[in-house]
Amino acid sequence: MTEQAQTKEFQAETRKVLDIVINSLYTERDIFVRELVSNAADALEKFRHISLTEKPEFDAHVPLEIRIDCKEKKHILTITDTGIGMTAEELEANLGTIAHSGSSKFLSELAEAAQKDVKLIGKFGVGFYSAFMAAKTVKVQSRSWDSSQGHEWFSDGNGTYTISPCDGLHRGTKIIMELKEDAEEYAQDFNIERIIRQYSTFIPFPVKVAGKKVNTVEAIWLRSKNEIKDKEYTEFYKFIGNGYDEPMWRFHFSVDSPLAINALLFVPKDNMESVGLGRMDPGVNLHCRRVLIDQHSKNILPEWLRFLQGVVDSEDLPLNISRQSLQDNALVAKIRRVITKRFLKFLDEEARNEKEQYALFWKTFGIFIKEGITTDFEYQEEIGKLLRFESSATESGEMTSLEDYISRMKEEQKEIYYISGPNRAAIEGGPYVEMFKKRGVEIIYTLEPIDDFVLSHLGTFDEKKLLSADRADLRLPENTEQEEAKEQLAEAVQTSLCKWMKEVLGERVQEVKPSSRLVDSPAMIVSVGGHITSTMERILSSQSHGKNNPMTMGNKKDMEINPASPLIRKVADLRAKDQDFAKDLAEQIFDNAMIQAGLLVDPQQMVSRSYRIMERMVG
Ligand code: ADP
Ligand code: MG
Repeated sequence: MTEQAQTKEFQAETRKVLDIVINSLYTERDIFVRELVSNAADALEKFRHISLTEKPEFDAHVPLEIRIDCKEKKHILTITDTGIGMTAEELEANLGTIAHSGSSKFLSELAEAAQKDVKLIGKFGVGFYSAFMAAKTVKVQSRSWDSSQGHEWFSDGNGTYTISPCDGLHRGTKIIMELKEDAEEYAQDFNIERIIRQYSTFIPFPVKVAGKKVNTVEAIWLRSKNEIKDKEYTEFYKFIGNGYDEPMWRFHFSVDSPLAINALLFVPKDNMESVGLGRMDPGVNLHCRRVLIDQHSKNILPEWLRFLQGVVDSEDLPLNISRQSLQDNALVAKIRRVITKRFLKFLDEEARNEKEQYALFWKTFGIFIKEGITTDFEYQEEIGKLLRFESSATESGEMTSLEDYISRMKEEQKEIYYISGPNRAAIEGGPYVEMFKKRGVEIIYTLEPIDDFVLSHLGTFDEKKLLSADRADLRLPENTEQEEAKEQLAEAVQTSLCKWMKEVLGERVQEVKPSSRLVDSPAMIVSVGGHITSTMERILSSQSHGKNNPMTMGNKKDMEINPASPLIRKVADLRAKDQDFAKDLAEQIFDNAMIQAGLLVDPQQMVSRSYRIMERMVG
């Protein structure tokens, strides 16, 4: 480390972020105060945690607090914390780059959010740079808890910053802002006080303005439900989620035995993973008798519930437990199970009582619930109840639960059926649903690629097998009324036609068989292996980039043909008269069935073949 001032350039993404912050964020400027105060609180929290194990000596008795000083005449605002501080390297890494950088999607989303809704900015983790909304220049003087040398970071937000040694600093960080002319109100005590009261009341360290503590340090989750006003809940949610919006739902509960647990959980309004932020950190903090012991805890809830925000507090946990030992602590596992079950029950109740709200939840966070099914065996049964799909019995865009599906099942129906497709129209026009329609059997439409994995992981629901309709071995309930017999090929002709088609198609199919399920379509592809649907096969092979994927290699396919289809009967005729043309037709029927199954065909061959067929028709 050289002991001179060094001028450095901001990382390209950071420059763009700064540009957005400085040029497009004019409204609701107040938020920069909150962003800086929340950084200070984080730094204090980190120091408190370290001091449990490391026992640092330097400045050991400096109280953990945040001080805000206004020099009204000079237009200077200073925010000081006695937290963990930063070394020169940390100043550079933390205030010169951004954590979520590297994705241009991130930046465009941020730019959009900045224009639409400045409230989102805190969630983008670019909080520090919001200082430049109000400041001409920003100085950050910081001394890390385990360094003997302090440093000063300085920038006017225009492309570069400098870092130089700075003597005489205490532990922690001081941010000195020289305010823009139109932002001078931020050097007035009463304004700053108002903002702290509005946004930062729940900071668990004293926040002092002009020497006076202005926040209330309070553990709202320990109070009894009926004493807490909606507004207080919302304020707390905003604090904990670093957001400015209202939650979609809150769930506050406590149990006394076998463990004493208080939990206050919030479902946010937005899914931040869907706006280009990548995988998010868990949002629930673990406390023991008010004291934070694991922030953004990975241990207190299953990973697929990472979209939740809030607090879990249990007085049964030892206060000095280390983060590593939380991971395989039996008590923590027990608490996790209790909370997860309670929360799933809560969702199930909301789903019954608040249908519309639940539909919104499902649209936003359903993907996490599905992730739960595929990654967490423990709660499959409970999560299964929460799943929602379109089906042949719903209107387009409406959803049904598996329970409701079962309540509509035919008496002799033993299984739950589903079929995937890119949209309703494609499914309803395809071969797989024909017999379902005819027999009046409901079928679930799986419209998202992940759905088939989810249902195949789930396997059964309420003891009924979940089966994809592209399987070879379905047992659809028989129609009670006589089905009118259609004219079809004689059995001997069927057998020899199937044999011949198999010869034509070679290894592409395992077998060609007459179908008992097709009504109008000439043919369909069914999978014999049973565990992998066509959609799953398509996804798995696209992941292995055309190479054989070991997961799909064992997946055998049959083609079923419809002996009553005029086209199939024609092909049977043509075999004797015009072998070559009959072959072309057989191959084209196969390719068409593959396409309807969502599987790949060789486009070149298929196009030249279909031209040959067309030429025959017009010639
Ligand atoms: P975020 O808080 O989401 O990480 P910020 O832009 O607000 O993003 O801050 C970037 C990083 O800078 C923080 O993660 C932290 O490491 C560091 N930092 C910011 N302010 C402070 C502070 N007062 N004390 C110590 N570190 C800080
Ligand atoms: Mg921050």
